[in-house]
Amino acid sequence: MLVERNEQHSIWFANEDIQEADEPYLPSLLEESFHQWMTEASELEAFQRYEFRIYSKKLLRCGVCGLTFDMPEEELNRAVSELGAKLQHTSAPASVSAHGCSLTGIPLKRRSDGGLFAIFVSVAPLQGFVAPGEAQACAMHYRSCFYRSFEQLYVKDILRQQTINEKEAGRRDALFLAAKRLYDQIDVTSVLAEMLHSLETLYANSDVHLYLSQDYVDGDPRIKPLIFKNTAHDIVAQAFLDGKPATEKGRDGMIRLAVPMSGKQAAYGVLCLTIEAERWEASNMPAFLLLADTAGSAFENAKLYEQSNLLINELRLINEMTKRLNQSLRLNEIFQFATNELLTIFDADYCCVLQLNPVTNQFEIKSSNIPSLTSEAFSPEYGFCGIVYRTREPLIISDYWNTRVVTSEVMDKTGSRSLIATPVFVEGDVVGVILITHKVANFFSYDNYKLLQVMSTHIGLAVANASLHSEMQRMVITDNLTGLHARNFLDEQIQARQRKDPFGSLILVDIDYFKRVNDTFGHQIGDQILIQVSKIINSCIRQDDIAARWGGEELAIYLPGIRLDQALRIAERIRRKVEDETNPKVTVSCGVSEWTFDNKKISVESLFYRADMALYEAKNNGRNRIKVGKLNANS
Ligand code: GH3
Ligand code: MG
Ligand code: MG
Repeated sequence: MLVERNEQHSIWFANEDIQEADEPYLPSLLEESFHQWMTEASELEAFQRYEFRIYSKKLLRCGVCGLTFDMPEEELNRAVSELGAKLQHTSAPASVSAHGCSLTGIPLKRRSDGGLFAIFVSVAPLQGFVAPGEAQACAMHYRSCFYRSFEQLYVKDILRQQTINEKEAGRRDALFLAAKRLYDQIDVTSVLAEMLHSLETLYANSDVHLYLSQDYVDGDPRIKPLIFKNTAHDIVAQAFLDGKPATEKGRDGMIRLAVPMSGKQAAYGVLCLTIEAERWEASNMPAFLLLADTAGSAFENAKLYEQSNLLINELRLINEMTKRLNQSLRLNEIFQFATNELLTIFDADYCCVLQLNPVTNQFEIKSSNIPSLTSEAFSPEYGFCGIVYRTREPLIISDYWNTRVVTSEVMDKTGSRSLIATPVFVEGDVVGVILITHKVANFFSYDNYKLLQVMSTHIGLAVANASLHSEMQRMVITDNLTGLHARNFLDEQIQARQRKDPFGSLILVDIDYFKRVNDTFGHQIGDQILIQVSKIINSCIRQDDIAARWGGEELAIYLPGIRLDQALRIAERIRRKVEDETNPKVTVSCGVSEWTFDNKKISVESLFYRADMALYEAKNNGRNRIKVGKLNANS
């Protein structure tokens, strides 16, 4: 089997032959094989008697050996031309004579189609002994030497081609693998690392660098920023600006290749390969370009992915924060929640939410995680809060220690170096400022700064909502004219207090002959009197007591935890003050009632009923006096 296979091999080679296309290489092959034949045949006796020559089909001399007849060149050329002409038409050997010699030309035919490819010439003296067939045998020997050389060359060629193919295939595989790996990466850092790794694998012993046009922080020393300086001498900048590869050969025998790395939307940088010129072949270039292209697309994809992820994350944070902010209508709760949330979102060390108090015109710290600053207030000109208030713009400070634009207590007390700050707007006015800091310099990114700005809008909305809500609440429980509480609020409060207090008292106040006041001075003055009386009442009671407008010109005061005797003293003080201080002067009548925990029926109705009865009594007894509502079986 083995033998058979070998035979098959030899048959396969034997069928190969020189082609028309091989013509240019033929003289060198003829020459090489002639030398080979010479070494094999030099022992032969014929070498002592003949001169042997080999000519190409076009009569180019490719070798001479054996005995030497110093034939004049001209004569020799003429004889060879003659032989050549003869052999074009015959396949048998032909002879010509020249300079006392006989030249015998033996045509060498191709083994495949019998076409002439060379002429083997033997030269002998005219009178000399010529062994019949000797020259022909030599020619045949030479022909087999020629074919052996040809086969060797052929095989060598195949092997070389195979090596090239293998190299190509290897490169293709590596490229394919690199492309696949590049597209497998979804974060920018991994794409870059993978690309550099692929290049180094593809081009061993090379130096690979990537110059990025956008600032991108990466610890990899192979990745550098693309700087445009002296662009005429810089192939990296050239490649980026022209959008095509640039090459440079250094005196040190190194070759530098710069290829732009671009995606569909933009050029991102330049890939630079430095390699020994000897190791670089022009055929390497397409693969390098392809890899740069693939890397550009993968980089772009990863960047877009990263950006969309960031956006999604931001939206999620905003959505979550807004939802939670809106769950509360209490300002302090909102500030506290915002502080906690912002600390987490920005991974910050400290956060401070300040609110402008319109009365004191000071920024008060409403919420912060800096214990020593919890109840501080600052002038609106002071510190970073002042800058934000004045400019109405957000602010980013990368290193407070280096750029001490203002003195900041928040930064100094916390040892912070990085800061992002933003105003909080309500209806176009700066009502607050948020300061977020970190001890590490350059901690916050531009994206952080933008995100804080967006978040502050939502915090502003929550603050506005809460303010509106508390204003509405105040309005609901307050009487517009007198500023006293509304009647329903008083009812609620008495009920609530009755559940937890042991006792309490109620005073009903009614302005005497008020109708007359209105009739005499007009309703507006009547209103003023109502306000004056309300102020007098407020000045006579404690913070905890609740004064309300019960209706018309009747006012009611509930005194939690106060017994009747003290309530009477308070009522008396009110009565006297009204008599003394109102202008135009009016008087009031009061009915006072009391409840204690041992009452059987402790209801608001009973309390009012008794006070009302007492008031009625006071009116009937001449007004400007106080009466006590007694507890009886009916009440
Ligand atoms: P009496 O001493 O018996 O209480 O006499 P009076 O006139 O005060 O009592 P009356 O109940 O007859 O009249 C109450 C008047 O109070 C009638 C109404 O015009 C006036 N009044 C009620 N609410 C207001 C108010 O908000 N502003 C003004 N200016 N007058 C009011
Ligand atoms: Mg009255
Ligand atoms: Mg009345």
